[in-house]
Amino acid sequence: MKNLKLTGAKADGKRTIVEVGGIRVGEDFVVIAGPCAVESEDQMVRTAVAVKEAGATMLRGGAFKPRTSPYAFQGLGLKGLKILDKARRETGLPIVTEVIDTRDVSWVGEYADILQIGARNMQNFSLLREAGKSGRPILLKRGMYSTLEEWLNCAEYILAEGNPNVILCERGIRSFETYTRNTLDLSIVPSVKAQSHLPIFVDPSHGTGVLGLIEPMSLAAVAAGADGLELEVHVDPSSALSDKDQQLSPEAFGRLMRKLAVMRRTMAELSSESYG
Ligand code: PEP
Ligand code: MN
Repeated sequence: MKNLKLTGAKADGKRTIVEVGGIRVGEDFVVIAGPCAVESEDQMVRTAVAVKEAGATMLRGGAFKPRTSPYAFQGLGLKGLKILDKARRETGLPIVTEVIDTRDVSWVGEYADILQIGARNMQNFSLLREAGKSGRPILLKRGMYSTLEEWLNCAEYILAEGNPNVILCERGIRSFETYTRNTLDLSIVPSVKAQSHLPIFVDPSHGTGVLGLIEPMSLAAVAAGADGLELEVHVDPSSALSDKDQQLSPEAFGRLMRKLAVMRRTMAELSSESYG
């Protein structure tokens, strides 16, 4: 791939580690969990405590929601960020939250430990430049119609502004298939590892949009070599104001975390042994 001056794989195979509050992303396996959107203090703090209890490493929650319809719930904005701050103080979990507007990058960055740039904004080049200047680690999701090369070039915009702390996140691409919300492209995980030194996460919640597929696709993401997962979890999924059909209950999330631990042990064993 051409012109990946800063994001392309290094000759010595060295990979980027993004440090966030004592967590070494790219080295430690990371699970970012929490609701699609921050809806209230009670919903956010209860979800945060539940995911922490189950072993999540970071907390997610959208205060600014990029919605298909302008009439749908758009998020609580500043109030949502203050609630996230409260949830962080209650649990000690770093916060990942999305920014959708260039004008908001610097002040949202004061609340967020990691700024997320969503699929719909992956190629918003002004937003990428601001994200690069923010000095915050950036979780850059893959656009739903984007090739690997286009995606890595978007990361390149952030690194070119002097910010090396970029985490990529596969969240499904559009295909002819309508049974799932998106088509989760797990082949991108080893492809990113071959072409770039940046950490690669997988979001099976938006990637499938189907509750029953989130656990198998999370396990498969670990098998494919993902450095972490981003998962939607809600204390009461049926009452969620957005993405209610794909948010795990705390119980389902707890079961998934136990299975992930087994899969990670298996993967560690496979990488340390040579067979045949
Ligand atoms: C999200 O993670 O809240 C989100 C909106 O995801 P995506 O940008 O991948 O659709
Ligand atoms: Mn969502």
